Amino acid sequence: MGARALDTATTVLPPGKSAVAFSRVLSRFEGELGSDQVVSDAVILAADYLDPYPFYDADETAPSAVLRPGSVEELREILAIANEERIPLWTVSQGRNHGYGGPAPRVRGGVIVELRRLNRVLDVDERSGSCLIEPGVRFFDLADHLRNNGYRLWPSVPANGWGSVLGNALERGMGATPYGEHGERVCGLEVMLANGELMRTGMGGMGNSKTWRMYRPGFGPSADGLFMQSNFGIVTKLGLWLMPTPESFRICEVKLKREEDLGPLIEAVAPLKLNEVIQTQVICHHGVEITAVVTQRDRWLKPGEPITSEVMERMLSEMGLGAWNVKFGLYGPNDLVEARWRIAKAAFEKIEGAEITCRKYAGDASVEEIAERDRVHAGIPWMSDISIVNWKGPQGAHLGFSPVAPVRAEDALKLMGMAKARCAEFGFDYMAGIGVSTRHMTPITMLLFDRSDPDERRRAHALFSALVQDAGREGYGEYRTHLQMMDLVASQYDFNDHAQRRFNETLKDALDPNGILSPGKQGIWPRAMREAAGRG
Ligand code: ADP
Repeated sequence: MGARALDTATTVLPPGKSAVAFSRVLSRFEGELGSDQVVSDAVILAADYLDPYPFYDADETAPSAVLRPGSVEELREILAIANEERIPLWTVSQGRNHGYGGPAPRVRGGVIVELRRLNRVLDVDERSGSCLIEPGVRFFDLADHLRNNGYRLWPSVPANGWGSVLGNALERGMGATPYGEHGERVCGLEVMLANGELMRTGMGGMGNSKTWRMYRPGFGPSADGLFMQSNFGIVTKLGLWLMPTPESFRICEVKLKREEDLGPLIEAVAPLKLNEVIQTQVICHHGVEITAVVTQRDRWLKPGEPITSEVMERMLSEMGLGAWNVKFGLYGPNDLVEARWRIAKAAFEKIEGAEITCRKYAGDASVEEIAERDRVHAGIPWMSDISIVNWKGPQGAHLGFSPVAPVRAEDALKLMGMAKARCAEFGFDYMAGIGVSTRHMTPITMLLFDRSDPDERRRAHALFSALVQDAGREGYGEYRTHLQMMDLVASQYDFNDHAQRRFNETLKDALDPNGILSPGKQGIWPRAMREAAGRG
């Protein structure tokens, strides 16, 4: 097959490959996928496949090409070529992943494998409340599929519905319904290993299994978790549990006036979660964060001016917000919803100054009957929070610092104090959203920066690094992070001189000896790249 011409002036290349060698590799990929499914045009790559929110030079994670397989067989061919040619791949499903690196690979010159074309909802089973989907299915697609076919099942969706259900679940993304901890609802994966072998986890180990999507463990070690936030395989199918349409639901809000009310708030929420009165995560949004979704900074402040307590007071009063704004949902048979509501309301009423409101809906309410701001809580995908990036203008970007903490007032107040002090030190506005689960919470500090301003980018990076290390010293690790912070976050997991990392590297070397699958993801590097990655 003839080598295709590459524009060497603009082309990013995989590590160690010459332009000539790489054009031969691209021709091989074209031979398998067809030339229209292999993208190496520098203009398209720069427009669509760089990190959209870089706090560093986005060229450091620029891809060399994008491959778009249309079947599992084509994926296998890609892996065979990548193994032979030692090409580092980077798998994405939709490749949105804003704030975590977008579609960009960890290694400059990596080849993106984009699975958007594998976009079928393969099965929905109302009786077991589960579905089987391919990687390219977006939240919009799954919701349409369920609604259009009259299934009495709800998906759980994150704030923005354009991403893939599979990618989000693998990354342990979050939604607002009782099934909102998406990683927890995964049951049964089909995975292609680096050598092209197709494997199914759990009960899917049986070729004729009746319970692949119903019983996660299987017989022996449970492998689902090994392929989540991982670079051990490419997930080609995902079983996911779906929530039955409830008879009714209530979406409840609580406003608290002062920042220090966070302590009593967390203490009130903890038993409601532990006793399963509230089935969703309880999301506590700082008032500035909500203000940033609907207004721009220059409405309140001159450039560089910090948010003083006077400015914050004016902001909250004009916006009708609390310093903390709590939101959660109650779902199920009417009688249960009402009982849950009575218990939750009584608990929040004990917090001084709490303002409590609630909206009630029938479970089968139409989209139009549900207030826009409640739709995500009813499993209706939306693009609800993306405008937050415009807080500092059209070149805005975000980065979320998301440590995991116990559900205790002292931890919430300590982490808020740490984040506020560091934000002030580095010249950023403090804003956060805390997702309270049953036994842990994730206080996500949102760093909004202007990506066109090199100094802001540098400070955002320095602030983020300081936060990760501060939290690490106090025993809090992040649950998810941006590409460029994965090594730092992984290094906080240091028990017994990083035994967890050695375990991951042992698996990586055994499963992917040529190191072709998403090298560097979650700080897991294949043997050949460890030295270059500072992991020598
Ligand atoms: P989104 O669906 O939000 O657009 P991505 O498709 O970018 O998100 O997926 C988020 C991350 O999940 C990717 O960076 C990748 O590490 C991982 N991922 C996505 N799809 C797969 C897959 N099919 N197999 C393994 N990992 C995946």
